[in-house]
Amino acid sequence: MSIGNGEKPSKINNEDILDLTLRPKDWNNYIGQEALKQNLKVIIEAAKQRKEVPEHLLLYGNPGLGKTTLAHLIAQEIGTDIRITSGPAMEKAGDLAAILTNLTEGSILFVDEIHRLPRLVEECLYPAMEDFKLNLVLGRGPMARIMELNVPRFTLVGATTRLASISGPLRSRFGATFGLNFYETEDIKKILKRSSQILGIETEEEALHTIAKTSRFTPRIANHLLKRVRDFAQVRGEGKITQGISKSALAALEIDELGLTANDKRILEAVIHKFAGGPVGLKTLASATAEEEDTILDIYEPYLMRLGFIALTPRGRVATRLAFEHLGMKAPKNLF
Ligand code: ADP
Repeated sequence: MSIGNGEKPSKINNEDILDLTLRPKDWNNYIGQEALKQNLKVIIEAAKQRKEVPEHLLLYGNPGLGKTTLAHLIAQEIGTDIRITSGPAMEKAGDLAAILTNLTEGSILFVDEIHRLPRLVEECLYPAMEDFKLNLVLGRGPMARIMELNVPRFTLVGATTRLASISGPLRSRFGATFGLNFYETEDIKKILKRSSQILGIETEEEALHTIAKTSRFTPRIANHLLKRVRDFAQVRGEGKITQGISKSALAALEIDELGLTANDKRILEAVIHKFAGGPVGLKTLASATAEEEDTILDIYEPYLMRLGFIALTPRGRVATRLAFEHLGMKAPKNLF
């Protein structure tokens, strides 16, 4: 299980159980993203007053920022069921049909990684989103017939880490689109405080600050780090998370004071050493670092950009003066 990048584990394991235990069950415990919360509540309340299902909602943002949690809270606020699936899990139109026809009236359908829906499934989703109808093709060739099916009214909550990869026709069928921002350190501290209370861990305020600073402004990573540091506190200390324990745990995990892992540094160093600071295109950088393009786009780059270590130019990504300085190197003159 990697802890430095916020990726979701693919199988149910202890980390998933931890996610479930720590997942906020009400709006008050969903820290931060205030404007987004208020907007969502208005949309839900207005739909409730009109006795309609709320419009379809699209949530975008980095992994671990709270999109799935929000979908659960939306279902709770409406007082309805939620069905969870993901773009790549729906391989054929029939998979979508099976899910839609089994929904209860007025429920939420949460589709994670909606940008990875196969084209044919996506096209099948359009009439379902617009008119709650499914057009199924039965048979093949000249004998093929189209059967129209009504499906229960539902609200689709789509989540994506890649807004730009969502096709125009799909995007236009959402009533509202919301972006989740990286969290402020103070908000991450609040999340960590709540998590340590739930897990029954005693923590020093300073240690919470240190963990918050290294959590890439991302709640899921903050919670995972808290758990790792707790292991250290248990084995190397007396159970309490002190500043000393948190610093030595993070050092042992090779996570620096800004939350950069060895992999982030490898990307930065490649831009600096192999491409003279850039600009370098995504494909070239991916092959030079043996990383997948998607991982660079979803995991490494957003955080490095947020720290101001990498900038995107029309000719590719470049390392900034801050990046050189953070890695203890002398930045070339005339670098921005
Ligand atoms: P995403 O769907 O965007 O990948 P999740 O909703 O699965 O992210 O969030 C991952 C974990 O981070 C949750 O289980 C929860 O513990 C924590 N989390 C996310 N957002 C918040 C928040 N705003 N307040 C408190 N905890 C949060």
